[in-house]
Amino acid sequence: MVTTWPPNFPVLGEGCKLFSDWVFAMSGGEMAIKIYGSGELIPALECFDAVSSGAAEMASGAAYYWAGKNEAFPFFTSIPFGMNAQQMNAWLYSGGGHTLWKELYANYNIIPFPAGNTGMQMAGWFNKEINSIDDFKGLKMRIPGLGGKVLDKAGGTPVLSGGSEIYTNLERGVIDATEWIGPYHDYVMGFHKIAKYYYAPGWHETGSTLELLVNKREMDNLPEHLKVIIETAAARFNVWCLSEFESKNNTYLKKIIEEEKVEIRTFSKETLSALQKISSEVMEELGNKNEVNKKIYTSYMDFMKGVRNWSKYSEKLYYNDISL
Ligand code: CA
Repeated sequence: MVTTWPPNFPVLGEGCKLFSDWVFAMSGGEMAIKIYGSGELIPALECFDAVSSGAAEMASGAAYYWAGKNEAFPFFTSIPFGMNAQQMNAWLYSGGGHTLWKELYANYNIIPFPAGNTGMQMAGWFNKEINSIDDFKGLKMRIPGLGGKVLDKAGGTPVLSGGSEIYTNLERGVIDATEWIGPYHDYVMGFHKIAKYYYAPGWHETGSTLELLVNKREMDNLPEHLKVIIETAAARFNVWCLSEFESKNNTYLKKIIEEEKVEIRTFSKETLSALQKISSEVMEELGNKNEVNKKIYTSYMDFMKGVRNWSKYSEKLYYNDISL
């Protein structure tokens, strides 16, 4: 298994190791998976091609990393103002999303499985205050993918940089802001030492699903029980990963606030609704580009509409009306 995560990367790299242990134990030692961190065998961004060609049997990554191959891929990770982790799982496992994902990846000789979720992310670290949508004008921010497209439309400049360069770029003022993941991983990166404000919510990644990629030919040739073991271990990875994020994020948010004295800011309702409007335009344009995009976009949006209507009377109502 090649991975897009640096060796022993917190939660995501650890999860791959656990996945391998679970598969080994469940198969009674019949299947042993060796894990390679990014750069150990191949660079992170070559994982998809490696599984597609059969050079590697498996990979751990995120569908939106490969958006350059197919613009519909991000629907299977996260889209701006999209569904949360619970809703993504519902769409993928019970709402037809996984079937669409498998259909799409079959063109690349890959079978995907949901395997991990970051939960809601943070909007990021800023050295400029954001009091209205106009404050995004001229803002240089490290924010990849569709979130970057939204920033661009809002008048900002999305900057792409790999994980290892973000800290220095923010420190030197090459960028004014950066998003990363959430309190735990952000704390490990040390952004609290060089940024003034930590903004919420992470509108651009509301519950990013991570993926296990398996070479389709290799998987098809496995005996039935090993196929089920892989799928079952991926599902456990999915639950374990989200649980780790939820648990660690709340511990580290407390550290960031109480020990590091960081000021947590939230975007105003008007700012968020302006970003949401731009996002809807970006997503509509993407969803109508071709038949494949349209099929996935329609499924995602229909599911989200339904599940949000339910949420009005379940989670949203509950959280609105109790003291937190
Ligand atoms: Ca992120």
